[in-house]
Order: sequence, then C-alpha cells, then structure tokens
Amino acid sequence: MTYVITRLCTNDGACVEVCPVACIHTRPGAPQFYIDPDVCIDCEQCEIVCPVDAIFKDVDVPAVHADAIDLNASFFRQNKAVVGPVALEIAWQMVHRAHAYAQSVRIAVSAAVVDEAGVPIAVGRMDGAAPWTAELAVNKAYTAAAFHIATADLKAQARQPWLRSLLVAHRGRLLAVAGGLVIFDGIAIIGAIGVAGGTTTEQDVLCCQAAFAILEAGRR
Ligand code: SF4
Ligand code: SF4
Repeated sequence: MTYVITRLCTNDGACVEVCPVACIHTRPGAPQFYIDPDVCIDCEQCEIVCPVDAIFKDVDVPAVHADAIDLNASFFRQNKAVVGPVALEIAWQMVHRAHAYAQSVRIAVSAAVVDEAGVPIAVGRMDGAAPWTAELAVNKAYTAAAFHIATADLKAQARQPWLRSLLVAHRGRLLAVAGGLVIFDGIAIIGAIGVAGGTTTEQDVLCCQAAFAILEAGRR
C-alpha cells in the first residue's frame, strides 16, 4: 500500500518535512507534490500534517480523485532517471576522500559506500580504526539507503513507535545515529555513504560530506 497526493495539493511542502523516507517530490512548474509508491512505507505522517486533506491511502482515494494513483506513480516513472548504483571506482574514491579528511583532523575511521538497496560496494577501514567501526559504517550507510534520509535526521524520530519497532527488529543493522548520508542522482537514490570511528558523530558526518566532493567534481 502507499499514500497518494491528489490535485487538492496546494504545493506548500508541509508533507515533505515529515516524510521519514523522503519519498515526496515535485519539480519546478509541477502543479503539486507526488509520492513515490515504491518507497512510501505507509506511515501516515504526511496525511496528518496536510492542511488541505489532499493525501489519502491508495485504497481510500475518493472516486473523484481516482486518477491520482496513476498520476503519482507516473511522475516517478518519468522523472526518475534510469541510473545505476554508485560506480565502484567512484565508491572507492569516496571512501579514500573520507579517509583523507579523517586523517587531516587526526582521527581514524571506517567508511562504506552502499548501493540503493544497502548492499556494500566499497568498505575501507583506516589503519588505527577500531575493528567494529567497519560494520558500523556499513550499517549507517544501509540505514540512510533504507530510509532515504540522513541518519542524523532519524535521531529526532527515534522515539516514534513505528521507528522503535523497526530498530529493534533489525537488531542493530538500522541505526538512528549521525554519520550516514544518501547519495542522489537528481531525484534518484543511487546509494549511501556511512562513516564511523570519529571522536564524535559530527566528525563522521564531516567525513561523509568530504567524500561528496568526488561526486561534485564528476558532475562539473
Ligand atoms: S505515508 Fe509516510 S512514507 Fe508514505 S509518503 Fe507519507 S510520510 Fe512518506
Ligand atoms: S502537505 Fe498537502 S498541500 Fe502541502 S504539499 Fe503536501 S500534499 Fe500538498
């Protein structure tokens, strides 16, 4: 099941702020926002905040707005570029860039780049980084890929019952801890990066951000 946005949408973006998996998008000039049915986890948060009651569960869409189901799905069919996961060479460069930043601030970390499904592409543990940091980095990247959101942003929601049960059920694989960032190509998610081992999780985030310079250089 998924939620869908109907033509009642007034484009104020309130639902985007609350979606835990960042699956609500639009593009310049579009008349409304749309929900990606392949990503929506059915959490209901968007429906609660919508000021004009434009959002419905797909099975509850009123007949007058029945076309909204296809409208939402087709927006993503048209706008999601067919892109593969982060290329291996790029993934390694990102890991090395994260390491280089860590070295510059005198910390030793592990960095991991995963594909959009959370499967590792490149994982590197610096000399001196604790052994457990490798798995932690992969898990942060996995979490960012799974939720389509920076893991730091999950922290604020960690007490929500739906998230707590997910975290418990995944036995540590999902982590609501800073240090995991999503890698986008346009609106398509092509992977995620996770870093662990910094003295603070803010340092892990800075290592991730440093790695993004590789992607920006490739797009110029
Ligand atoms: S139901 Fe939840 S996951 Fe789905 S679009 Fe709304 S906020 Fe996002
Ligand atoms: S909260 Fe409602 S009106 Fe605002 S962008 Fe989302 S669907 Fe549209």
